[in-house]
Amino acid sequence: MSDCLFCKICDGQIPAAVTFRDDEMVAFKDINPKAPFHQLVIPTRHVSSLATADEKDAALLGKLMLVGARLARESGQAEGGFRVVMNAGADAGQTVLHVHLHVLAGRVLGWPPG
Ligand code: AMP
Ligand code: ZN
Repeated sequence: MSDCLFCKICDGQIPAAVTFRDDEMVAFKDINPKAPFHQLVIPTRHVSSLATADEKDAALLGKLMLVGARLARESGQAEGGFRVVMNAGADAGQTVLHVHLHVLAGRVLGWPPG
């Protein structure tokens, strides 16, 4: 989508600290990190929100989780523990309407989230 911030990061039109890329996924460091380790994993195909995703997105959403876990493992964050979060909709705090998985680690993460 031409006016989507995260599509522009996928295309390289907007710079980001990219940590992983393949045909289907891009991961990059969150510009406003909420934990010492905070990366976002996004599909290169524009999907607006988990709230409107459907069966055709199932494999993509599964892969997001696996890429997120791999990033945490390969960064040494899996032993201590990490959290994946996907905000869906305004009340949950979704500000960018392109599906993204937050991967957070590097400190004790409170529960429940606010
Ligand atoms: P959410 O609030 O769940 O929609 O998450 C959006 C996330 O994108 C926030 O954590 C922002 O800090 C992050 N973000 C926004 N713009 C950028 C950018 N240009 N590069 C990296 N992260 C960004
Ligand atoms: Zn997009």
